[in-house]
Amino acid sequence: MQPLQGELASFCSWSTSGMQIDGKGKGVGSATWENYEYAIKVYLGYLVRFEKVAVPSLKLFTDPHSYVKYISFLDKKETSIVTIKNHISLAKKVVSWLACDASRAESLVFADVQQWYDALRVQLIQKIPRKRKDPGVLEEEGAWLPAEDVLALFEDLRLKALHMCKADELNPVQARALHDACLANCMLGYLPPIRLACLRSLQLPNEGIPCLDKDCKSSQCKGNRLAVKQAALWISLPHHKNQDKWDNAIIEVALPHQLDELLHEYLVRGHSMVAPGQPYVFANRKGLPFGDASSLTAYWHDLMKRLGCPAKFPPNRLRHIFVDERGGKDRAEGPTDKGAAQLMGNSVKQWSQSYDLKFHRREAAEAMEAMAPWREAMLKKAKGKQPAVPESEGQPSDGDLVIDLAESGDDEEDLGDQSVGDEVSEYESCDDSNVDLTGSACAFP
Ligand SMILES: [Zn+2]
Repeated sequence: MQPLQGELASFCSWSTSGMQIDGKGKGVGSATWENYEYAIKVYLGYLVRFEKVAVPSLKLFTDPHSYVKYISFLDKKETSIVTIKNHISLAKKVVSWLACDASRAESLVFADVQQWYDALRVQLIQKIPRKRKDPGVLEEEGAWLPAEDVLALFEDLRLKALHMCKADELNPVQARALHDACLANCMLGYLPPIRLACLRSLQLPNEGIPCLDKDCKSSQCKGNRLAVKQAALWISLPHHKNQDKWDNAIIEVALPHQLDELLHEYLVRGHSMVAPGQPYVFANRKGLPFGDASSLTAYWHDLMKRLGCPAKFPPNRLRHIFVDERGGKDRAEGPTDKGAAQLMGNSVKQWSQSYDLKFHRREAAEAMEAMAPWREAMLKKAKGKQPAVPESEGQPSDGDLVIDLAESGDDEEDLGDQSVGDEVSEYESCDDSNVDLTGSACAFP
């Protein structure tokens, strides 16, 4: 085993352990670990490539000279301060791990390095202004669509898919179109923008398949899945961002009729062609599950391009688009702010972290029901703008809707001035391709 691989294995074991004698807080999940590993390799890859370091090792995190060069590199690439803070938090974590087996003399050095990282973080927060997400700028850059345009696009997909389903048999292209219509309409419209990790991990309503979540500790758990109950399709999400905070409360609700209808067609007629033998609802063009956030983002970009979408944005931007509409002065009828805040946990992160850590079933359900008039209002607004949008099929059902209240982290959200040590978990929220870990520039050899 190469030295670095050994170090990574040991650091992984330490980071993911639920019983960190030397560390702070709980162990991280496998998705977070993957993000850690990636970020570490980007840093070491930078040193190998640009600083001619011969032997990459985690010990390089104790070298302020190397690290400050790397941070300067990130800064030149206009990496956001949020991402840079994440890098620093991870660096501190690596040093904490190194300190576990350090000699007394080394421990003193490592303690100095930790202090240096804290100071660096404070300096960088002052130096690099936080870039506010501005829909106007994003729209100019072709990275934004107003909510009504997004919904019109998704509605178009849905209606075309349903039209195709009138045929006796679907061909693979039609099955794929049905898949895409389901994916888009699960992302926003009937539901608030649910967390992509929940969509990626959504399993088929097949009771025989156990939970496939790598970090699941319950043998009874059925995993994030669609479920058939009382002849209706439900979504059930035991694994979500606030799983721990909400004492393992399962987010579980019936889907509105139109979405149920669309998904039913896909599950019965499309899935076997799109993803034969796969236990997950959604799949890439090879029929394989979306293993990570970037694979779904790439698929999404391709889909939007094929649809002739005038903008290019990662699927996670739907969350910003939704919040932007709700915050607008001429917002449509829809969920209340408090309800939307529940649904979009990240928007009121400190609020939710400080004193509101529970899953509020009633408020969440009310907000979800209000998604129906909101969706109608968006489609009406879009119709006014784009006469080409096909006729809607009437009012959506007022049935119970699904909530993903799981999101508590978002890459663009700042945690403010809370202690650095608690912040490493921010890597958990790498669903957004906006997180620039600079990998393209310095891939680890
Ligand atoms: Zn599970």
